Amino acid sequence: NLSERLERSFKLLKGQGKITEINVAETLKDVRRALLDADVNYKVAKQFTDTVKAKALGQNVINAIKPSELMVKIVHDELTSLMGGDTAPLNLSGNPTVILMSGLQGSGKTTMSGKLARKLKSEKSKRPLLVAGDVYRPAAIEQLKVLGEQIEVPVYTEEGNKNPVQIAENAISYAKANHYDLVIVDTAGRLAVDEAMMNEIAAIKKAIKPQETLFVVDSMTGQDAVNTAKEFNDRLDFDGVVLTKLDGDTRGGAALSIRTVVTKPIKFVGTGEKLDALDYFHPARMADRILGMGDIVSLVEKAQQQFDEKEARELQRKIAKNQFNFNDFLNQIQQIKKMGNLKDLASMIPGVGKAIKDIDIDDNAFKGIEAIIHSMTPQERANPEIINGSRRQRIARGSGTTIQEVNRLLKQFEETRKMMKAATAMKANPMKMMRNM
Ligand code: GDP
Ligand code: MG
Repeated sequence: NLSERLERSFKLLKGQGKITEINVAETLKDVRRALLDADVNYKVAKQFTDTVKAKALGQNVINAIKPSELMVKIVHDELTSLMGGDTAPLNLSGNPTVILMSGLQGSGKTTMSGKLARKLKSEKSKRPLLVAGDVYRPAAIEQLKVLGEQIEVPVYTEEGNKNPVQIAENAISYAKANHYDLVIVDTAGRLAVDEAMMNEIAAIKKAIKPQETLFVVDSMTGQDAVNTAKEFNDRLDFDGVVLTKLDGDTRGGAALSIRTVVTKPIKFVGTGEKLDALDYFHPARMADRILGMGDIVSLVEKAQQQFDEKEARELQRKIAKNQFNFNDFLNQIQQIKKMGNLKDLASMIPGVGKAIKDIDIDDNAFKGIEAIIHSMTPQERANPEIINGSRRQRIARGSGTTIQEVNRLLKQFEETRKMMKAATAMKANPMKMMRNM
């Protein structure tokens, strides 16, 4: 496993004061071996470690930073920049915008066609038309129709016509006549690269001149993915890569070597079979993943942005004095909500993502709690001790909840208070606790 190997090789550097030719050589050998194990192309791995070496040796190690940490940062930054630095946007010019899907059979083209239509419909208010260009298998057309129904996007088909070039051209005329501003052409793939498939997809591209030709590749196919990407790119000169099945037990290496070998941006990643399992490709996050940090880095950054240091200190003082009250509690809930979708946040924690995949956590989770706190008087919020039986009844009525729910919140609040007090006693602040998790 790549991340474990990198971790081990970085550990070798621990305790050494400077990055020198000698102590870096051993680490880089391990880094290279780890990359090769993850199916990163040999040349890419070599080029990568050479660059990292040059950068590492040029660095003055500040006393405060451990060489191992500096190396992690250099490797991380280098991985990020190799994978394109920033998220690459989709070219949505043209009316209609035409997107052509290419790739081997089973790579996820048809699924991705549906996902893209769904995303661009909701995010960019596009009116998409899906085109069934896989004319060889009736099941393929049916599959696209089912997807189309789920997302309420029409699917253009020509039953009986076996010429996908004609179908694609006709579909675009149809889109123009019927005011569809986005046409996504799904095509047939083969199990391996062959001339007939390449000729066909090249002919479609030439005929319809798409704004985006996307190459879809299964991220679990390892070293083969690079070869396939190269063959498709040589023939099609595609505009971007879509990496599917990243939810699986996947090797991060494919992203790195495809990007380096074909020098085309990775634009999207597929992270599941469901139609909302689609993300823009984030090079820095992928670097985290390859390095095995999960997305903990972005989680912490996100949290840090929202967390005002001064406020944190004030909070700590209150907790220590057991003055943490419902106003602070409400404030904390609002801080958490500001960080964004709760499920997104939780899924970034390594090891948690998979476990919560099918559990319903949403931003409504706090609704009841907030309602109860809003129904308290200012005195009650500031001094929760005064909330007796009759006050509880009034709060329940006012917030449209039950007295049991109010009781439960008060109990949870009391426990939280105790826990926080214990934690502060250990001189921990919330951010420090997170980092140490
Ligand atoms: P096509 O032959 O290229 O059109 O591939 P399909 O879209 O039919 O996908 C092949 C299989 O992979 C189907 O069973 C999909 O449900 C599945 N699939 C596609 N994308 C993903 C993904 O991102 N994650 C997972 N786990 N499965 C996927
Ligand atoms: Mg298909």
